[in-house]
Amino acid sequence: MSTIVSKFGGTSLADADQFKKVAAIIKSDANRRFIVPSAPGRSKAHDHKITDLLYLCHSHVTQSLPFDDVFGHVAERYKGIVADANVKIELGPKLKEIRTRIKGGASSDYAASRGEYLSGMILAAMLDIPFVDAAEVVRFREGGKLDSDATQKAMEKRLGPLERAVVPGFYGSKPDGEICVFTRGGSDVTGALLARGVDADVYENWTDVSGLRMADPRVVPNPERIDTVTYRELRELSYMGATVLHDEAVFPVRQAGIPVHIRNTNKPRDPGTRILHEAAPNDRFGGLSGIAGKRDFTVLAIEKALMNQELGFGRRVLDVVASHGISYEHTPTGIDSLSVVIDSEQIEGKLDSVLKDLRAQLNPDVLEVFPNMALIAVVGRGMAHRPGVAARVFAALADDRINVRMIDQGSSEINIILGVETRDFERAVRAIYNAFVE
Ligand code: ASP
Repeated sequence: MSTIVSKFGGTSLADADQFKKVAAIIKSDANRRFIVPSAPGRSKAHDHKITDLLYLCHSHVTQSLPFDDVFGHVAERYKGIVADANVKIELGPKLKEIRTRIKGGASSDYAASRGEYLSGMILAAMLDIPFVDAAEVVRFREGGKLDSDATQKAMEKRLGPLERAVVPGFYGSKPDGEICVFTRGGSDVTGALLARGVDADVYENWTDVSGLRMADPRVVPNPERIDTVTYRELRELSYMGATVLHDEAVFPVRQAGIPVHIRNTNKPRDPGTRILHEAAPNDRFGGLSGIAGKRDFTVLAIEKALMNQELGFGRRVLDVVASHGISYEHTPTGIDSLSVVIDSEQIEGKLDSVLKDLRAQLNPDVLEVFPNMALIAVVGRGMAHRPGVAARVFAALADDRINVRMIDQGSSEINIILGVETRDFERAVRAIYNAFVE
């Protein structure tokens, strides 16, 4: 027997039909022993996420406004789920208690956490599996940071002896017992911690898409699914904007060597995407795993003759940038040139003073600003050792008459990062995709 931890996201639990699908998925494999539900999210019939409504309840109370309407929506959603899915559970007293506590000034974390709490209660009743409150096993420090070790110990102790359990996502407790939540989307983190805590063989993350795509479907029509991706590739892709898992969810499972399997609640037969420590290179698409990109970067390009001989030049450039509270993304260099790539939002309102300081402190021959740059990451394990990959990328861009403004392969063997003008961004992504996939 193996152990699977299955986390279900908000759209997977948006209404009674979705709860039924989730229950069927869990029942179809006895190895799905530990279940982590989110709060009900959006669906066709429901425009609101329960978590948003709960935050809203809390802010009404802090502004001394009546919150009955908003809380009423929350209560109705859950009552509807219980009635339509025919679950044997008496929700009335729980809703009443939650309402009273929010009204009495409970924290916003407490309010927000009740979405997952109630989902967990319902799912546990539906499946006749023990419910374990996340407050018992997910531990935060006083300041609100996760206490990873205490969480691991608590999970081993509390869940180790159990055959099965439902543990709600998104929240835990501080040493004084106060409820504390992760940042939004944090049920992914609970699932990952739980997978590590019970030493799972797989961490299943059930959502509303059949895995990761090789490119953003808003840019490339109907892109291929990624079958397998390594943790390092995932990091590159998600840094560049591909969203799958909460950032903090990757760490615990990666550390414990537990594979993640992204799957679609609405299409449970679809193969999904597997995230593994290591995998053989992707032969099917010439070594390419995926392409991701982000718009809105600003590049500061600095040239100075004999820069390479000037001790500490690069450090001083970065010191200037840091002294304005700006963090940078990349620093491609030439012999006498150095560029600093910065997220445009970071430098907004500070550009003039940064340029002034750079001029004063470094006395460059040329200092240019390219404000509308987009970065594209072409990611594939083993790519660097494969002859012809770069040629394919650049030929595709040249054929489409797209000007590459910057190249950064760094020492990483799994990606090539390109800078293009923002207006060329989508065309560039499509050209690269087509060169490998079509
Ligand atoms: N319900 C929380 C949110 O909407 C956490 C989660 O769904 O993962 O952010």
